[in-house]
Amino acid sequence: MKNSGPNILFIIIDSLRVDRITGSLKTAKTPNLDKLINTGVFFDHTIAPSDTTNPNIGSIFTAQYPFRSGVDMYRNHKKSCKFFKNLNENDFFRCATVPNTSFFRTLTKDFEHTDFIEINPNQSLEDGVGDKLLKQIQLNSMNSPWIHYVHLLDLHPTKNQFLIPEKYNDEKFGKSKYDQTISIIDEWIGKILAKVNLNNTLIIVSSDHGEYISEYTNLIHNIDNLENVFKKLKNYLPFLESMANAGNWQKNKAPSIGTQLINNTRKIIFERRKSKLKKYLTESEIRSLNYRLQWDLFDEIIRVPLIFVGYGIKHVPLIDKQIHQMDIVPTINDILQLPNEKIFDGRSLLPFMKNITPSEKPIYLETATTKPKSLGNVVGIRTPEYKMYKPRLTGSYQTKLFDLKNDPLELNNLAKNEPIIIKKLSKMIFDIQRSDFSKEKELLKKRIRQKRRLLTLKE
Ligand SMILES: [Zn+2]
Repeated sequence: MKNSGPNILFIIIDSLRVDRITGSLKTAKTPNLDKLINTGVFFDHTIAPSDTTNPNIGSIFTAQYPFRSGVDMYRNHKKSCKFFKNLNENDFFRCATVPNTSFFRTLTKDFEHTDFIEINPNQSLEDGVGDKLLKQIQLNSMNSPWIHYVHLLDLHPTKNQFLIPEKYNDEKFGKSKYDQTISIIDEWIGKILAKVNLNNTLIIVSSDHGEYISEYTNLIHNIDNLENVFKKLKNYLPFLESMANAGNWQKNKAPSIGTQLINNTRKIIFERRKSKLKKYLTESEIRSLNYRLQWDLFDEIIRVPLIFVGYGIKHVPLIDKQIHQMDIVPTINDILQLPNEKIFDGRSLLPFMKNITPSEKPIYLETATTKPKSLGNVVGIRTPEYKMYKPRLTGSYQTKLFDLKNDPLELNNLAKNEPIIIKKLSKMIFDIQRSDFSKEKELLKKRIRQKRRLLTLKE
């Protein structure tokens, strides 16, 4: 007979910034997330290793840095499946509600049930995803223990394309469309919670990365009809048609040349508009118009919320210590009393939940890239005190160093004044990169020892 739990409900709200659900910048209405925070354990300094979805989700499920697991935009997606395989071996029914992209199709390939969310246009909770999700969560109880991995796209960076139902199009639900969407998500979280028994369900709520949000977004990004222009152009220039079909990132390939053409044209237009706006906006307002996957690793794109609640989790006050996304799986394993692997870079957060405060670890960072077979522009490190990042290859772009304690908004670049700190932090980057080899070496040595032992036994 199957046992009755614990079940796991793992919700990733794509592109959710932590500072939009707590703190002074919060304008969304989130009674349900508040309740989870106030009854569970909330880590408000959870750091993502990069600035985009696939490597970060890969980092969560492999409990390794992306550079170590090799999970990037296009490669090694299979490596993220192991956590779910282990759960399957422990009799878990595996269920998912995830975007219909190559990465998530691979991740959920042998799940017992998967509902896909179409990403073009983004299907939202209000648009049917929510109803389907509620139905499935109710059905899950027939297959306990279960894990349901939910990856919501409602906040996905469609910039000004948020569709806000009339009811929420009001300042009381948030100052921006992004914040109003958070209010909508929160209401659905309330509906989901009503269907789940918290006594035997472990709930994890987090995000894959943050996002740049600006009230000036419309001034820059309002060129929705660019695709239509290209479609019309195809009639006059038929070769565009074949270009547009040459590859498809949803099929695990690079974006088609047509898509790349549209994206590049869009970028050129955005940059021109941005430089015109520079005269009128403050530095941080200009920064809010940035994109991910470029030359920066500000906290707004790599700091995400993390909540553990339900199944035996006792409330402790907000934990503001720096932790990593790759700590999530070791924590789940620890709670379920499943073994953690030596190759994990992440560690269990259970001591924090028992009011023991382990030391904070420096976190290696890098920007990701959408270009196949290449690496992101910058690498960096975040300690509780400082964040530093610099070009991966020597380039003209300057190194950035921020004093996180005294300048949490990362406005003053100290790189030129603090060569000793830069040197120290560069060494930390080098040590983490190098530890890759030492871990491999350690494993290799262990295997050799085991083989020798076996040979001796045979003798
Ligand atoms: Zn994402």
